[in-house]
Amino acid sequence: MTIAMGKIELSPLPYGYSDLEPYISEQTLLYHHDKHMAAYVNKTLELVAGTSYADASLEQIMMSADGALFNNAAQVWNHRFYFEQLSPRPQSKPKGKLLEAINSSFGSLRKMREMMTAEALSLFGSGWVWLTSDIHGKLKIVSMSNAGNPLTNELYPLLAIDVWEHAYYIDYRNSRVEGVNALWNVVDWSVVEQRYDDILNM
Ligand code: MN
Repeated sequence: MTIAMGKIELSPLPYGYSDLEPYISEQTLLYHHDKHMAAYVNKTLELVAGTSYADASLEQIMMSADGALFNNAAQVWNHRFYFEQLSPRPQSKPKGKLLEAINSSFGSLRKMREMMTAEALSLFGSGWVWLTSDIHGKLKIVSMSNAGNPLTNELYPLLAIDVWEHAYYIDYRNSRVEGVNALWNVVDWSVVEQRYDDILNM
């Protein structure tokens, strides 16, 4: 796996807390990063202390643990991945090999976004919707409940939509669709392209 082995720590946001406004508010990012993600980090550290996982990476934990340890470690990984793909100055569209793959798999970028949004709306309860690639570069949209992560299904994540209520409730209340639609404005496709290139170059 070319994805860097992640430490169990609260990685800082790669932008300021108010930088994604008006799409994602400062208050949402303060809670989402400093409260929710921080809680997953702290719980994971508490669960690995004194165990054989004490020096393990997030990926090693995700591939072999279950229950609370899996859930908390995967949520650390998922949130880092989610925050890193967003930018106040995003590249607004994919290009190159990723755009070709999106067009051949889904018809167009617009259709891919519609499919991911529809998955987000139909996912019951909390979870994540992922754009993934297999080892050969074939794209697939998958939704997973709770802390689910596609790496456990041998799929490589390219883009994540957090559909836990805490991701959108402050800004959009019960409207998951508004939260997802807003998110598309701050997805930095240069990050997604880099992730795809890394998989193609494995
Ligand atoms: Mn979240």
